[in-house]
Amino acid sequence: MADFDCAIIGSGTAGGVLAHFLTEGGLKCLLLEAGQEYNVQTYPDSELEGTSELYWNGGMDLSQDGRLVLLRAKCVGGGSVINQCLLDRFDQPAFSTWKNASGVSFFSEEAMAPHYESIESKLSIQKIPREHFNKNAEIFVRGFEALGFGWMPLTRGQTDCALELGNDCIGCLNGCHRDSKQSIPVVFLPKATGRGLEVRPGCFVERVVPEEPQVRLLTKGQGGRAEITAKACVLAAGALGSTQLLLASGLKKDLPYLGQGFFCHPQTMIFGAFEEDVCAFRGAFQAAKSSDARLRAMGLKFENVFAPPASIAMLIPGFGKKHQGWMRRFKKLACMEVAIQDKSAGRLELKKDGTLSIFKTLDQRDKKRLEEGKSIAKRALIAGGAKEVFASKLVLGLHLMGGCAMGRDRSRSVVDEQFRVNGVQNLFIADSSIFPAAPGINPALTIMALAHRASQTLLEKRV
Ligand SMILES: Cc1cc2nc3c(=O)[nH]c(=O)nc-3n(C[C@H](O)[C@H](O)[C@H](O)COP(=O)(O)OP(=O)(O)OC[C@H]3O[C@@H](n4cnc5c(N)ncnc54)[C@H](O)[C@@H]3O)c2cc1C
Repeated sequence: MADFDCAIIGSGTAGGVLAHFLTEGGLKCLLLEAGQEYNVQTYPDSELEGTSELYWNGGMDLSQDGRLVLLRAKCVGGGSVINQCLLDRFDQPAFSTWKNASGVSFFSEEAMAPHYESIESKLSIQKIPREHFNKNAEIFVRGFEALGFGWMPLTRGQTDCALELGNDCIGCLNGCHRDSKQSIPVVFLPKATGRGLEVRPGCFVERVVPEEPQVRLLTKGQGGRAEITAKACVLAAGALGSTQLLLASGLKKDLPYLGQGFFCHPQTMIFGAFEEDVCAFRGAFQAAKSSDARLRAMGLKFENVFAPPASIAMLIPGFGKKHQGWMRRFKKLACMEVAIQDKSAGRLELKKDGTLSIFKTLDQRDKKRLEEGKSIAKRALIAGGAKEVFASKLVLGLHLMGGCAMGRDRSRSVVDEQFRVNGVQNLFIADSSIFPAAPGINPALTIMALAHRASQTLLEKRV
């Protein structure tokens, strides 16, 4: 007799949604999370504590050549706790890319609409109103308008950020101190735990062993090593976490595509120095994006952005006096990010010590795309009034996707259209690792919508 109906591994954007709907459907669920649990009282209140406590490896997972810095959360709520909660539905081009790569029939705006609606009905989603645009956002608008590109206010999961009281939402990157951000621990976990969900923070799942009619999980936590059984198990440990777990479980021999097709929307920051104070960290530090169809067709995504001081220091190029000079002008810097819809797929492999090697480089097309984006952002900043502009040398990946792609062809996929790991009866995956390609759009809302679809599928199967 299994301990649980369903074990969910990873409590992030996907895992929390799965826990919500599966417990609503009457299943006895366990949610296992390698990171710790925080709340409004306990979120770290400094930037460096935040990266060391809320992220894997201090927010510094590096690609094998050290040129890409990948960020992924490690805490109850996963990425939903530390992300900006910008929530966008995928458009038809994103779903067409996915359909072409996977052959999966429900990758369309129409088929996914009920799942988006179900998630959106649970969240408070607001467009950032113009009166909350800070100077950095206004510069973004001015610059893009001057270049003849369209722009839009960003759409965010939030209730009341009380900006009029002088709150700066940049602190939200360490966990929202007002519980305004619509994270998994705020929106989904309280109801699920009320229905009997058991959450185990600080519990790392080392291996999954499918043994019909159940799955055995080997875990390592505060109390040492343990074994848990469940009738079904859903992996929601993120692109790196779920891929690593399947590789560590010895499943690669039956899943040739496991670890292939890794994407991350590589992005960088472009700065403009102004004569007057910009204070880009104030208030709603992200408010505008360009959704211009011409830029979308080029595989480019632009948003106004800023970061806390230690991160800005890392992003700014140069040594000594030159670097110091820029940091002295901290308040006078405006900043935009450009992210690309990467086409060059990376590869994830297991090292002898059980951690991952991340092989991800930008091919010539992706490099060119990023250079084009940087050039547009520089021109927009100058059009917005910047006296000097420069680009960061650091390329970051915040949207980690793939490694366990969904698809119809078993030689190019790890899970089928039912979210089931190929050839394994009671093991499923329903997180960002199943993305078959990079969409070029903020992924979180779609991750939640897919998790909703997956929970419906599991409930129909009465696991
Ligand atoms: C700084 C930042 C800002 C972002 N902003 C946005 C945004 O505004 N909009 C947007 O759409 N996206 C944003 N993203 C991306 C988004 O947060 C992620 O794409 C999303 O959270 C991924 O969801 P997931 O469920 O696949 O994985 P995650 O949310 O990462 O959850 C996976 C969880 O599994 C746990 N885990 C991993 N391995 C194990 C294991 N073996 N055992 C137990 N637990 C394990 C992890 O600790 C983690 O908590 C941002 C990301 C970052 C880093």
